[in-house]
Amino acid sequence: MSENQQIITIDGPSGSGKSTISRLLAQRLKLTYLDTGAMYRAVGLLAHRQSIDLTDDAAVRRLMADLDLQMRPGAVEAQVIINGEDVSEAIRTAEMGMMASKVSALQPVRQALTALQQAIGAKQAVVAEGRDMGTVVFPQAKYKFFLSATAEERARRRTEQLKEKGLPANFPEILAQIMQRDHDDSSRALAPLKAAPDAVLIDSSTIPIDGVVQWMLDTIKKP
Ligand code: C5P
Repeated sequence: MSENQQIITIDGPSGSGKSTISRLLAQRLKLTYLDTGAMYRAVGLLAHRQSIDLTDDAAVRRLMADLDLQMRPGAVEAQVIINGEDVSEAIRTAEMGMMASKVSALQPVRQALTALQQAIGAKQAVVAEGRDMGTVVFPQAKYKFFLSATAEERARRRTEQLKEKGLPANFPEILAQIMQRDHDDSSRALAPLKAAPDAVLIDSSTIPIDGVVQWMLDTIKKP
């Protein structure tokens, strides 16, 4: 791949199939998969554990200044290490999804994680997955995709995923959380969830995962 093809961005709301699709696309193209939601979840976990008052700007800035966050490729999901501790499992709960959404609206958090994501992307070719990859973090990316699916379909998928992992999963609660997160992520002032004007829009409600990945590969291969 040439220099300007090295970043592929995949944005969309939670449960739109972004993670699975990004991982598969990265495997097929032999690129690094960058799960930026995991980074926000890690900060959310840390803020939760340290009982940080999220309205206290100085405390949030201190948290970010002291943060040592490393992303390592894992067998399935990325490994996330904060301050030397592997938190890959601990961040995957619905509660940490909500915490991630809360901390992600804060300027010091977005600023620090955006810089970290750009540094990772400067070193290697990545498939970057998140909410603002195509709009804010990698606006120069040559290939941008925006995935969507109905809230009900996304809640159904998330419920299945949690059940497969043996974690508690209650469909009405998950649907309510998804709708709340959609609202919060789309309406926040900083880097809201939205498609970049040059992103390819894909509704994954009715297309199987493999079909979406193939569609992306076909788009990328076109001259
Ligand atoms: O994708 P995931 O569900 O793991 O993301 C958790 C939360 O992190 C999202 O609801 C969103 O609030 C936040 N996030 C973000 N920007 C990103 C990735 C995630 O604001 N690039």
